[in-house]
Amino acid sequence: MHPAEVLDQIATLLERSLAPAYKVQAFRRAADTIRDRPVEQLEQLAKAGRLLSLSGVGTSTSRVIAEVLEGKTPKYLTNLEAEAAPDAGAGGEIRTALRGDLHSHSDWSDGGATIQQMATAARDLGHDYLALTDHSPSLKIARGLTAERLRKQLDVVAGLNQELAPFRILTGAEVDILEDGSLDQEDDLLAELDLVVASVHSKLRMPEQPMTDRMVAAMANPHADVLGHCTGRMVRGRGRPESTFDPDLVFGACAHFDKAVEINCRPERLDPPMRLLEQVVSWKCKVSIDSDAHAMGQLEWQPYGCARAAEAGVPVERIVNTWKADDLLDWTAAHGKAA
Ligand SMILES: [Zn+2]
Ligand SMILES: [Zn+2]
Repeated sequence: MHPAEVLDQIATLLERSLAPAYKVQAFRRAADTIRDRPVEQLEQLAKAGRLLSLSGVGTSTSRVIAEVLEGKTPKYLTNLEAEAAPDAGAGGEIRTALRGDLHSHSDWSDGGATIQQMATAARDLGHDYLALTDHSPSLKIARGLTAERLRKQLDVVAGLNQELAPFRILTGAEVDILEDGSLDQEDDLLAELDLVVASVHSKLRMPEQPMTDRMVAAMANPHADVLGHCTGRMVRGRGRPESTFDPDLVFGACAHFDKAVEINCRPERLDPPMRLLEQVVSWKCKVSIDSDAHAMGQLEWQPYGCARAAEAGVPVERIVNTWKADDLLDWTAAHGKAA
């Protein structure tokens, strides 16, 4: 095996384990540096102790390259592989039923991989489709896409879809739900997208009543299809408390307008919390189980959400990303027709 492939594998496993971006980048950069160099040439460099002279190759990465060249399995790789892979537990059947993922980011906003890399990684996981949902303009720290950049992205996706068919990248956006409940993108552009995830990213500590109004207004918007990470909580590191809203009104609105509530699979989010997910089920809301991946390896997080869906008793037919792409798109298009 060429050492670049092993470096790529390590980078993807690091992403899965939520490692800091600089660490992942070190492996991706080293992989790119050596990708086009023949193994014999790398062997000569290793023998001369000169692997470190390659730009982008550092201590850890040079050790991995050397080990692969010696025919060994690098320790760095075995350690990462030994770390528990995301396990769907009782949600195994749900995971098997998933045909796609409806929330993902590319390097057009704050993701670490290109659209093509994300799409091929999703395809390699067995998916039929991946919704590309980069951030919207007001999320400046995440390089949210202006209307102009999103229009450009639509052309790029159209081109990639020709190459990747029958796999399909669904056009989309994760739009901010602004303070007044409106969506952070031009209406006619939202109307063009296959799928829109609407999420709160600002003023998360708003009092319950205006937050409820804000979220209900967003779900009433015909362009919104999925309510992203509804409480905004963070359960790792310093953490972040849940936003407060009236779940009956918000999930009632999702049910009324036939929108899906997202089960966000990011290990630091796992949103909604179980007690709210149980309410989602009793309101008979549709659900989407999404990775919210910002890197290729993070697409592997869906089992976390499948486990939670199984625990809460979400019926499989209510999970919109178990549907065929055409059925999914009929459902999102029906929302737009209400406009
Ligand atoms: Zn992001
Ligand atoms: Zn988000």
